[in-house]
Amino acid sequence: CGLFGIYGHNMDVATMTYYGLYALQHRGQESTGITVSDGKEFKNHKDMGLVGEVFNEKILAPLKGHLAIGHVRYSTVDSGLAVNTQPLDFRYLKGLISLAHNGSLINANEIRQRLALNGSVFQTTSDTEVIVKLIARYGQSSIEEALMKMMIDIKGAYSLLVMTEDQLIGVRDPHGVRPLCIGKKGKSYILASETCALDTVGAEFIRDVDPGEIVIIDNDGLRSIHAMKSSEQAFCIFEFVYLARPDSNFDGRNVTLVRRAMGRQLAQEYPIDADIVIPVPDSGVPAALGYAEASGIPYMEGLMKNRYIGRTFIKPTQKMRETAVRLKLNPIRDIIEGKRVVMVDDSVVRGTTSKQIVQMIRNAGAKEVHLMVSSPTVKYPCYYGIDTQERNQLIAVKQSIEEIREYIGADGLHFLSLEGMVEATGSSKDSFCAACFTGEYPLGISKRVGEYPME
Ligand code: 5GP
Ligand code: SF4
Ligand code: MG
Repeated sequence: CGLFGIYGHNMDVATMTYYGLYALQHRGQESTGITVSDGKEFKNHKDMGLVGEVFNEKILAPLKGHLAIGHVRYSTVDSGLAVNTQPLDFRYLKGLISLAHNGSLINANEIRQRLALNGSVFQTTSDTEVIVKLIARYGQSSIEEALMKMMIDIKGAYSLLVMTEDQLIGVRDPHGVRPLCIGKKGKSYILASETCALDTVGAEFIRDVDPGEIVIIDNDGLRSIHAMKSSEQAFCIFEFVYLARPDSNFDGRNVTLVRRAMGRQLAQEYPIDADIVIPVPDSGVPAALGYAEASGIPYMEGLMKNRYIGRTFIKPTQKMRETAVRLKLNPIRDIIEGKRVVMVDDSVVRGTTSKQIVQMIRNAGAKEVHLMVSSPTVKYPCYYGIDTQERNQLIAVKQSIEEIREYIGADGLHFLSLEGMVEATGSSKDSFCAACFTGEYPLGISKRVGEYPME
């Protein structure tokens, strides 16, 4: 999911949030919403669909106020339900709160059960509502204290935006799994999942929110509480591999440069005699450039991508996915014919895309096709906020690399090593979560305790 919040001074905060969410659309295409506060009341609009479909001038115009938060949703465990759109707005003891969440809790079911036994009712199946209920439960305290108490209860991955009538608050879990950064435009403060959203609204990057930190922005400016200390950081390495936009920076490192370094690393680990390097657009482009750079093999755009097909179009059935790949990508025969092709992609998840594309490249007359993947094999589900359903069909769980190579029909198939991937980030392995590659879960995994009747 993607988050954008702003505490504005003399600006149209709803429209700014709309632009910010537009820049974060890649983080979630299922639903989107904005809540605005004018200091007394909230106004909200949310719906299923893309930012550009859900909002327009007429819808944004009445959303008047000086602070706002917005969300784009990428479904995880509780997919496709309109009732789970965010932000979630509610009234508690002290007034109004709006909440938007990126990540996934691992003990949401336990807390839900506990709260239900004490009489709480739930409107949604999302773990975000569990956070809402906890804040309400600690409602006697100040909002800072309520958030700190809530942070002791919840476990898992969470970057949060919390809005009261007159405060914009950002919270990041103690492991810093999901990103969150701070920007400034004139006197106005912004919180966003990625720096590309700050660029889009013309804001200046200030810093990342620290793991375990709460930042509170109000009329007096920004203050910070380091609410929880973490023993180990666990930033999601998949943000660097696939999730984030190439023009974003995390911890001072630019995503496209990291992906390029992953491609160079791949060329060092698997040098191959070939005529051209082609990317699987768009996600494979930076790594393909890196591979070409390090190997000296010319980089060519051998696959054309239809820009008018969004990810939303790809319905989650196998048949639809296969058609979607052909609608989305078309090989350029004059570039490919008679060539030994190195094709670079960022990841192999189900293997569907790869199989289709290898076939396409072959049909276009390639002499050889070698698929180079700029991340290791994905073998384990993510419990920290990335689509788990898709991950049930992980091809690398059931098959060896040699079997996958045969299945997708490539002459060669190579995956970047774990060490190589980490090396490319310039940080150390213990600062990341890489559980979907390694099976080592730095925050633990969720237990399915006594199913709550709603689910
Ligand atoms: P697959 O192996 O599942 O057919 O597809 C791999 C492709 O999907 C890669 O090009 C990669 O960019 C993209 N991809 C990687 N992870 C995800 C994900 O979590 N969701 C979606 N929709 N695409 C992904
Ligand atoms: Fe990211 Fe993978 Fe860890 Fe999930 S399991 S947080 S996708 S690195
Ligand atoms: Mg891709």
